[in-house]
Amino acid sequence: MSRVAFVGLGHMGAPMAKNLLRAGFPLQVFDLNLDAVNELTAAGARGAADVRQAVQGAEVVVSMLPASRHVEGLYLGDEGESGLLALLPAGTLVIDCSTISPHSAQKVAAAAAASGIDMIDAPVSGGTAGAAAATLTFMVGGSNAALDRAQPLLAAMGKNIFHAGGSGAGQVAKVCNNMILGVQMIAVSEALALGARQGLDVQVLSGIIDQSSGANWVTERYNPWPGVMENAPASRGYTGGFGADLMLKDLGLAVESAIEVKAAVPLGGLARELYAQWSQSGHGALDFSSIVGLFVPRETG
Ligand code: NAD
Repeated sequence: MSRVAFVGLGHMGAPMAKNLLRAGFPLQVFDLNLDAVNELTAAGARGAADVRQAVQGAEVVVSMLPASRHVEGLYLGDEGESGLLALLPAGTLVIDCSTISPHSAQKVAAAAAASGIDMIDAPVSGGTAGAAAATLTFMVGGSNAALDRAQPLLAAMGKNIFHAGGSGAGQVAKVCNNMILGVQMIAVSEALALGARQGLDVQVLSGIIDQSSGANWVTERYNPWPGVMENAPASRGYTGGFGADLMLKDLGLAVESAIEVKAAVPLGGLARELYAQWSQSGHGALDFSSIVGLFVPRETG
């Protein structure tokens, strides 16, 4: 089995890396956060002191980082330091699962190709629960040949693998999907708050919506109201999950793309504004469902 280096062991990366271990891939891991490295070492991975050590001898590199600048920094280098592409041997396969701008994905993939390195963008949907259960959806941009090589790893971490098109196409799909999610979370939040203000029990209201035409992924799997869904971030103080700042980033990517192609995204734009307000009021590190606090400030502390 291919030797794999995994970089970025956060809310998503850690459970994804554990699934690669379970599938039998020899794994070398690195994160700037030492606790995250130790968690994976305890699970059977080889921890690395730095990213250069992590990729030594690896045939495949998987990354799961927050945003474009982290991915560009890792592969292309920054602050005078050369990036991983200068280090990896030709023939290495790079799978970047982070959600970043399509342009950034294309830029890094083009630099990789110039060094004989195959790279796909493979952002995911399914949240931390999907990452833990290996049921993620992968949206892949890149060549057929690179996707074929990546298939066994993606299958160990997810359930649905879609080839969206050439380099960057996975990111385009992901940004469209997350624009819906961001808008949906706000729509559900304001509806639940409206019901609560009129005296409805939100648990009862949520049960009704789940069996009615307002049902969606948020009401079914990610209810933003504390106590309604035992396993949702709302029921553990909005910790874990998908950070509000990451949703703000994704909505920013949606608006940027829309400007470029002259598309109208009025709801995506408004959702970005609301997440920016939420972030500026100090809530960016909380799970993105905490946005319900805009409508019921006292409920979310
Ligand atoms: P996170 O902030 O929990 O994890 C990111 C990790 O990257 C952190 O552990 C950080 O220390 C590490 N890191 C940053 N720069 C690094 C570097 N140069 N070298 C090594 N490690 C570095 O974020 P997350 O929630 O795991 O999300 C990761 C990506 O996945 C984001 O692009 C996000 O938009 C996307 N995503 C997240 C979810 C979710 O539910 N959390 C779902 C789908 C997609």
